[in-house]
Amino acid sequence: MPDSDSYSKRASAPQHPDAEQVGEHLVIDKTQWCPGPHPDPHRQRDGQTEYLERYLRCVQCGVEVLREDDLPETCDPEGKTR
Ligand SMILES: [Zn+2]
Repeated sequence: MPDSDSYSKRASAPQHPDAEQVGEHLVIDKTQWCPGPHPDPHRQRDGQTEYLERYLRCVQCGVEVLREDDLPETCDPEGKTR
């Protein structure tokens, strides 16, 4: 059984060197391609079939928002035990 010990327990909170502390949250910049035209008419183009959406994601509670202003006041990670 050579691999018996390779699945050691991992820490539940992964390391994110790029994460930025915003209030109680620890957010990282994320971008993803979304199908369809951009929701902002000023950034739409003719024939656009997808657009690059930038958003922020808290690595602690998993909340995803488009702007820092939209972050909830408190960071409340699911399954957090005291
Ligand atoms: Zn959070």
